[in-house]
Amino acid sequence: MNRATVLVMLLATAACAAGQESPVASAAPTEPPASTPPSTPTPTPAVSETPTGPPEFTAEVSRLKREQVPYSWRPGCPVPLGDLRLITMTYWGFDDRAHTGELVVRETVTDDVVAVFKKLYGWRWPVRKMELVDAYKADDYDSIDADNTSAFNCRRATGSSNWSKHAYGEAIDINPRENPYVRADGGTAHQNAKRFTRRPLEGKGVVNPADKVVKAFQNLGWEWGGDWSGTKDYQHFSKGGG
Ligand SMILES: [Zn+2]
Repeated sequence: MNRATVLVMLLATAACAAGQESPVASAAPTEPPASTPPSTPTPTPAVSETPTGPPEFTAEVSRLKREQVPYSWRPGCPVPLGDLRLITMTYWGFDDRAHTGELVVRETVTDDVVAVFKKLYGWRWPVRKMELVDAYKADDYDSIDADNTSAFNCRRATGSSNWSKHAYGEAIDINPRENPYVRADGGTAHQNAKRFTRRPLEGKGVVNPADKVVKAFQNLGWEWGGDWSGTKDYQHFSKGGG
């Protein structure tokens, strides 16, 4: 073997090695073009939308301090302060944005309430406002007039000397303007609720017979005031009725 022969063989080996590599190298670019174009349009927008979407539902349950309910609770109420809980949770507003609201309920129904409001938020079912009735000095009329969703209030039932289910923290009034308390004669005490006295009724935050909001509560043993005969309380949901 002379030098020239060795050189030819080395070159041939190099060419051969290069030739072996090239199919591997060219195989890589041929694969992505086959799969990339059809898969690109769908996943990309979904991934990029997630960070800009509404926040996840959250709910925090905490004990109440006396100063948080200066008007709605007092000694002599049927439920001791220690049995009430403050729920701070996400709700979907009439402005199509997420908000944080507060509700006071009895400790025994916190799981029910959080479960239902988690559903409402998931459905983007709108709630006007959710603040403690103490923001209205526990005046039920003023809270309703402000279309405020609330629960606990140590008061008597409307037109009765008995404690309301709200005094036990086992009742919630939702969007009271859109879902008024309607007397048997069809009237309501709230001027701003007059166009919401009939059912079924199309509208934002309106509760209708047998709709998903009613069913969500019913599945957990809550009754709807819209199912009462005579007087209708469309805003009112209570554990076990009443
Ligand atoms: Zn009520």
